[in-house]
Amino acid sequence: MTSPYPSRLQRAQAAMAGAGVDALLVGPGADLRYLIGYAAPPLERMTLLVARADGAHTLVVPALERASAEEQGVPVAVASFGETEDPYRLAAGLLTGSGSGVLGVGDQLWSLFLLGLQEVLPGARWTRATAVLRELRMRKAADELDALRRAARAIDRVHRRVPAMLRPGRAEADVAREIAEAMVEEGHTGADFTIVGSGPNGASPHHESGARRLEHGDAVVVDIGGPMPDGYFSDCTRNYVVGAAPDGYEQAHNALAAAQRAACDAVRPGATAESVDEAARAVLRDAGYAEWFIHRTGHGIGLDVHEDPYIVQGNTLALEEGMTFSIEPGIYLPGRFGMRIEDIVAVTAEGVERLNTLEREAVVA
Ligand code: ZN
Ligand code: ZN
Ligand code: ZN
Repeated sequence: MTSPYPSRLQRAQAAMAGAGVDALLVGPGADLRYLIGYAAPPLERMTLLVARADGAHTLVVPALERASAEEQGVPVAVASFGETEDPYRLAAGLLTGSGSGVLGVGDQLWSLFLLGLQEVLPGARWTRATAVLRELRMRKAADELDALRRAARAIDRVHRRVPAMLRPGRAEADVAREIAEAMVEEGHTGADFTIVGSGPNGASPHHESGARRLEHGDAVVVDIGGPMPDGYFSDCTRNYVVGAAPDGYEQAHNALAAAQRAACDAVRPGATAESVDEAARAVLRDAGYAEWFIHRTGHGIGLDVHEDPYIVQGNTLALEEGMTFSIEPGIYLPGRFGMRIEDIVAVTAEGVERLNTLEREAVVA
């Protein structure tokens, strides 16, 4: 397989030229991984990619990280600094005219480093690298779509193992721990989140799995995701009931499944992000659950678990082939139960591909 990074860097250069940005300054995080494949540790010593519009790119690393960066085969020149050297002057020296120009700073570059750079580059104009990188990262290439399919299949396998983990008397946190182990066994490098919301806890969308013990008759929301070794994320929510569903559950779940289907069906090139949100919301409105659907319908996913495009009212972005995001409407009835159905989808030339293919009915455990 050929390395995707040279062409990504070239597209970044073209985008920089188009946006009037002279260089990007990118620290550890998804942008860095996207551009050069380097999974840099976030350290108090600066790691910084200086990616220039003219193609003279350099990765600045602390001397003691140099070997590890080179082992990961970074496709750009590496410059390192020792413990008593000034990393900011080293970086400034890599920029044309040392201090002039328009510099795009990565969202995930710590203020510690940004302030240090601003001090040695007083003449520069500063902007967000996102203006350049958002457009690139939103449209996934074939290799990225494959990576997201693999992640989706892995988390689907984990969900298939969940019913066997749900027994009356078990604490949510114990189930969450077992799920995290299963995620690693099924190919993830770790669990980024393991939400097990049982009974009334399910009515809090980002419930922290805790000490509550499962009871017969509980509805359980299980929302799990994490990175694969290549850095691409999974994220999938399914609903379970312990023994028997509580009153009103089936009716709500049917409405939710219809809403989730309607939103998926609304996905195609040219449709706006907000129209997909509205498709889900309209179904729940008609069914009388509008006020209990308290969050946006979805978020982009890739090397970050939440990234552009956001599927939310007010986002008039027209969807394009290669965009990937979650469709995850939910219903949250305070004091009673909650539910959410979440799949990752990709926009195709004709419409939509669901990357998660697991059945969507609530599973009785
Ligand atoms: Zn969420
Ligand atoms: Zn999600
Ligand atoms: Zn999720």
